[in-house]
Amino acid sequence: MSNRSKNNVLVFNIDDLSTWQKYRRGLCDTCYATCCTLPVEVTVSDLVRMALVDEFEAEGDLKAIAKRLQKARIIDNFNHKTAIFTLARMANDDCLYLDNKTRRCTIYLQRPETCRNHPQIGPKANYCPYRPRG
Ligand code: SF4
Repeated sequence: MSNRSKNNVLVFNIDDLSTWQKYRRGLCDTCYATCCTLPVEVTVSDLVRMALVDEFEAEGDLKAIAKRLQKARIIDNFNHKTAIFTLARMANDDCLYLDNKTRRCTIYLQRPETCRNHPQIGPKANYCPYRPRG
């Protein structure tokens, strides 16, 4: 499947998986970091690495952590059955940790596992919602 229209124009629609581009080395260098506008699911271990939760708190009530982080607008929601938190995003869908000028992650070394595993794991394995920087 190609992400080019009949007129050979690149089509970018993050919600349409048929427009996603097969990942290849170097693709990120020219990308707008569109993957960092997708909802990011994280575990409490990610939150510890991101220094949002300490080891002691992580062993306690996850719902209490969710409540605190929701109030701080760091997470959008928490699924208590799966123990998965979803990071909040900015009004334009950017991740809170994305620098909107450089389009680089500001917590790269501490980033969640979901981000480390993209695009091997994600809505379409090994494909990216690639969009070139304008
Ligand atoms: S934590 Fe970093 S890598 Fe992950 S979505 Fe946010 S900006 Fe992107």
